[in-house]
Amino acid sequence: MPNPALSTVLRVALPSPLRRLFDYLPGREVPSQGWQPGLRVRVPFGRREVVGVVIECTTHSELPLAKLRPIGAVLDETPLPSDWLWLCRFTARYYQHSLGDTLHQAMPALMRQGHRLVGRTHTLWQSIDSASEKQPDPLARAPRQAALREMLQQHPHGLAGRAIYAQGFTREQLRALQEKGLVASREVTLAAAHPDTGKLLATPALPLNREQAVALAALHERRDDFHPCLLEGVTGSGKTEVYLQLIEAIARQGRQSLVLVPEIGLTPQTLARFRQRFCVPVVALHSGLTDHERLDAWEAAASGRALIIIGTRSALFTPLANPGAIIVDEEHDGSYKQHDGLRYHARDLAVARAHHHRIPLVLGSATPSLESLQQALSGNYQHLRLTQRASRFPPAKLELVDLRHRPRQGGLTPTAIEAIKTTLGAGHQVLVFINRRGFAPTLACHACGWLAECHQCDARMTLHRHPPLLACHHCDSRRALPDACPDCGSGDLRALGSGTERTEETLQGLFPKVTVHRIDRDSTRRRDSFEQILKEIQRGAPCLLVGTQMLAKGHHLPHVTLVVVVNADGGLYAADFRALEHSAQLLEQVAGRAGRAAHPGRVLVQTLHPDDPHLRLLAEQGYAPLARQLLEERRAAKLPPFCFMALLRIESPKEAAALALAQQAAQALRDWLTDRPVRCLGPVPAPMERRQNRYHLHVMLAADKRSQLHPAANWLSQWLQANPEARKVRWSLDIDPQSLS
Ligand code: ADP
Ligand code: ZN
Ligand code: ZN
Repeated sequence: MPNPALSTVLRVALPSPLRRLFDYLPGREVPSQGWQPGLRVRVPFGRREVVGVVIECTTHSELPLAKLRPIGAVLDETPLPSDWLWLCRFTARYYQHSLGDTLHQAMPALMRQGHRLVGRTHTLWQSIDSASEKQPDPLARAPRQAALREMLQQHPHGLAGRAIYAQGFTREQLRALQEKGLVASREVTLAAAHPDTGKLLATPALPLNREQAVALAALHERRDDFHPCLLEGVTGSGKTEVYLQLIEAIARQGRQSLVLVPEIGLTPQTLARFRQRFCVPVVALHSGLTDHERLDAWEAAASGRALIIIGTRSALFTPLANPGAIIVDEEHDGSYKQHDGLRYHARDLAVARAHHHRIPLVLGSATPSLESLQQALSGNYQHLRLTQRASRFPPAKLELVDLRHRPRQGGLTPTAIEAIKTTLGAGHQVLVFINRRGFAPTLACHACGWLAECHQCDARMTLHRHPPLLACHHCDSRRALPDACPDCGSGDLRALGSGTERTEETLQGLFPKVTVHRIDRDSTRRRDSFEQILKEIQRGAPCLLVGTQMLAKGHHLPHVTLVVVVNADGGLYAADFRALEHSAQLLEQVAGRAGRAAHPGRVLVQTLHPDDPHLRLLAEQGYAPLARQLLEERRAAKLPPFCFMALLRIESPKEAAALALAQQAAQALRDWLTDRPVRCLGPVPAPMERRQNRYHLHVMLAADKRSQLHPAANWLSQWLQANPEARKVRWSLDIDPQSLS
């Protein structure tokens, strides 16, 4: 028998855009359990050292063995989790992305940097029974410490510091309790700890209403099989309660639930609800974690110890030792799609993952994406519906307010201002939704018509007041405000239109005694400022909220009874075929903020197109009938979800270079496509052709079936990689693009 050690060739995935593996020979270090796929290694790559993952162990290489370099170090004793490796390979293949880069993006930073995983421990805090209950209560004068102790008593297995601080307690409070002998810490090795399902609930589940019970029963019944469900429930209908009870049932079997929430949704509110319900740890993955916390979470999930994992888009890549269910909340949300690098869609990957694990998948939304809705209507997903709100009041109907020929202050019509006045007078809160940050969309010269345009983009610059400047929201370039028109020298420069700052200023002028909170990316740059404002709002004093999308999604604002949409027209006539769907979702979500608690809500939608048939359908009958009509329109136009698309984006500072490559690529593709059922469109200029001084062009592929599209996308990707001209420009291939910009 040949000695395998002599002829072993290790094919390694490396963090490189090249869609191929790299061959190495074993080095001096031999893994304790022999060479196997899934081990991380450190290898020389060019003049650098990089961390890669062994994908194949084979005996031959296309290169002469003498040319192969040896592996530098072995970083793992056992291979990375197999479900995770499967997911990364699937993702790389599906999105035509380099496997090495996919693996790197899916790994916590410390693993990427080569940290070893063995022998790490973490600290859990537990409450200790005090010796005698008769002694005077040592915490009588320290209510926060008492509250902390009570929380620890509810979690007999102990809580990690991270979970404690997330609930608003401080290190000092914890230390004080430790000094008083009321809490103690213990070190647990990560691998040794097991999930403890003894006591699961910290607070009891709510009794479900009939629709919730039907949904939960359906999910229960087939929890050992791939069972995709669309949970279509109006805002406030209790979808989250269904998730919580499904997770409970899954956890009782010792199995894990992975919950995805939109970027903006992972507020302390959502997380607090999960933590209040369960006494087993809820592992939260969000951008605020340190690298070590992220690695801990990864290991807790990979070992099966963490039963509940909740996180934003990238949490989809959490390994699961014992998967039981995947839940995607607000499945229609745009933040599930990554728009650069690895352009994956976490919801779509969740479907693939649930299928692979043979577990239930819940896609929840009040405004489902047309993709998921079509799957439900065609019977591929089970369609579960919640039509009743848990609170007394149904979601408010949209009232359209004609913007034409009406005087406006800060974008608001007299109708809107009157309604705001009445609502504030009744002691309630008002949400004014406006989709534009800044003071005004642009600055104009009233003498000659000059508009403040970005020097780098085909776009206008937004006027800001605090601080005063012109900013381009596409490339982030900034300019000082001109004193006079750069074209004609006139001093008559005026703000054109309204943004959040201007509406805030107007409202503050109209209602000087009321607090106006502006909530947009500018006002909430500091990490906790958004939370602070939300807390303040939840206290319930009458106030005005002026905000962008940030406010529209998922938040429970119990005291808001009036919502005013300053301008609903953005998506009505946009070039992108998804614009209408997205703007209907947004309107319905914004409207869903009104009247969620003790009082009914009212929603005013200002528009220049009050007769627009889509807008009227939405206003009169709601999202569900509109979505069905939009589906019929998409079917007739052969657009997604009735076709599948891939978008090749090409960009370069040199217009000619971008165009030449785009034309070559489209031509080569058309030649290859002869007699194949895939359409190729373009090249066409991107909707904003010049952005950040780079020229953007598109070539689009479309096919009736996914299985037809993928070979073409794959061929195109290979062609581009083999073409030296393609190295002179930037290109990317977006499978199932969500936006055509
Ligand atoms: P969604 O996730 O659909 O927006 P939530 O789950 O947040 O809805 O529920 C909205 C509100 O209704 C929450 O305050 C929740 O506690 C309450 N709720 C949900 N289900 C029930 C129920 N079965 N009984 C009583 N209250 C409920
Ligand atoms: Zn001018
Ligand atoms: Zn710009």
